[in-house]
Amino acid sequence: MDFEERKKLYKSNAWQVTRKLVLERDNHECQECKRNGKVFTDYHKPDKHKRLDIDHIKSLERHPHLAFDMDNLQTLCIKCHNKKENRFHPNQSKRKKWFDEMW
Ligand SMILES: [Zn+2]
Repeated sequence: MDFEERKKLYKSNAWQVTRKLVLERDNHECQECKRNGKVFTDYHKPDKHKRLDIDHIKSLERHPHLAFDMDNLQTLCIKCHNKKENRFHPNQSKRKKWFDEMW
């Protein structure tokens, strides 16, 4: 799945519905922070959409058929999400910018 296709996906109604389901399932908590014993949640803050991302555990680029698979989705805060993306794509600073702009 290329950049344009992903952009289209993230703007689709189906994605808006799916990401809401994932957020609710995960209690609006960053799953990575939770694993590390911290709880990052901004459920009660009005700008929550800017601070929590939905992450594809297996990347969309390689597993486009898992785009809406709840088992492949997890809630991450922007910080953990960027950390994860940078780990897999150390040279793609463009990506980080894109994710910041998305939400
Ligand atoms: Zn986090």
